[in-house]
Amino acid sequence: MNLVSGQLPWKYTLPEFPAYPVLDEDIHCDCLIVGAGMGGAMLAHRLSGSGANTVVIEKRTVAGGSSQANTGLLQTANDKSLTSCIHTFGEDRGVLFYRLCQNSIKGILELPGKLDIDPYIVPRSSLLYASTPEDVGMLRQEHEQLLAHGFDSEFWEKADIARRYSFSKPAGLYSRGDAEANPFRLVHALIAKAHASGVRVYEHTEARRYEFGETGVVCHTGHGRIYARNIVFAMGYETQEMKKDRGAELINTYAVMTHPLSVLPKWHERSLIWETARPYLYLRMTHDGRIIAGGKDESLTAPERREARVLSQCKRLLEEIEALFPEVKGVEAEYAWGAVFGTTRDGLPYIGQHPEYPHCYFIEGYGGNGTVYSMIAAELLGDTLAGKTRPELELFSLTRTSKPSPHQTVL
Ligand SMILES: Cc1cc2nc3c(=O)[nH]c(=O)nc-3n(C[C@H](O)[C@H](O)[C@H](O)COP(=O)(O)OP(=O)(O)OC[C@H]3O[C@@H](n4cnc5c(N)ncnc54)[C@H](O)[C@@H]3O)c2cc1C
Repeated sequence: MNLVSGQLPWKYTLPEFPAYPVLDEDIHCDCLIVGAGMGGAMLAHRLSGSGANTVVIEKRTVAGGSSQANTGLLQTANDKSLTSCIHTFGEDRGVLFYRLCQNSIKGILELPGKLDIDPYIVPRSSLLYASTPEDVGMLRQEHEQLLAHGFDSEFWEKADIARRYSFSKPAGLYSRGDAEANPFRLVHALIAKAHASGVRVYEHTEARRYEFGETGVVCHTGHGRIYARNIVFAMGYETQEMKKDRGAELINTYAVMTHPLSVLPKWHERSLIWETARPYLYLRMTHDGRIIAGGKDESLTAPERREARVLSQCKRLLEEIEALFPEVKGVEAEYAWGAVFGTTRDGLPYIGQHPEYPHCYFIEGYGGNGTVYSMIAAELLGDTLAGKTRPELELFSLTRTSKPSPHQTVL
């Protein structure tokens, strides 16, 4: 699958990244992780501390899939609001999902001290603004729901927003406890640390065929076989080429990163910013003073069509930046890209086992919070592989009945 188009960001921030060999022999392991994106990297790092004999294979290079297109926002709030989660899954399960996301960010914030490559993880606040006056009531309801369940939330009126930002919006929810990261550096940092702790990592090594047996799985690659007791598939959106999930949908999305700004706009606490409209616009600043904006989602097209759309979609994103922050008028994009993006009909990722694949687990962190979901998956599957029961996995079951898409309703 052709995952990305245009000029991608991030590599400039890590000019000399580690490289790993091609697998050219037969090997054995307890756990084989297929894919070295955010999902595979989080789990490899987690397992490296458990003593499990772990192997990671990657058909491209580490962080060479969708993770290199990731814009690096880490939020407790999801594409699907807490109100909507409670409505769809019930109070206990809806709140559990939000609690797992919140704890996942806490775990991610602790990572830098454990890694040798700095992943530029910084705690941030978030502003979710009402795109139209009609959305204010839903925001107020969401605010009350968040407070009732112990999550951080402040309801800001129009004047509260105008005081802190260059723009004015009908209302907004301000919250603390979120974060930003450089996803490319984060994936490399996790894999490098796991490798230093004994995890074997192979690049340009594609899993091509599997033999599922009573006691494990044999994975065939171009130049060697891997005999694994368990396999974790962390192949991102390309999992859909192996096992179609009825509730998963792939679309195109776009993003832009400006040159470093000479004038910093009126932007409260460099917060993460997003809105109630669907598809939504989202923005953040980078550690070196650039603006990243993303959105303009549209149906999945052939890669050539997506490539051709990058410039026009990113021009529209720049116009949105200027509309919010007039003081950066004329700002230009240094990087502009489009990519495949995955969502699910009910707004939850897929994590866990599938009855048709013995000794196998899947990490499909589909949705705007893929990094947070990858951390949740690493914790839940890390414990499961160590023999512990994690009942939370039931939330993310691959065989659950699909419910309506969060993209069909606002909040
Ligand atoms: C434009 C854009 C912006 C985004 N912004 C954010 C954001 O702000 N915050 C956020 O949390 N998430 C964001 N996401 C989502 C996030 O990028 C993804 O959820 C996450 O990076 C995906 O990680 P992954 O490991 O699942 O997939 P990938 O990074 O694609 O990794 C999967 C890897 O598996 C490899 N692979 C596939 N098949 C095989 C095989 N047969 N053998 C060996 N290797 C194989 C691939 O080469 C790939 O490297 C964004 C996504 C896009 C596209």
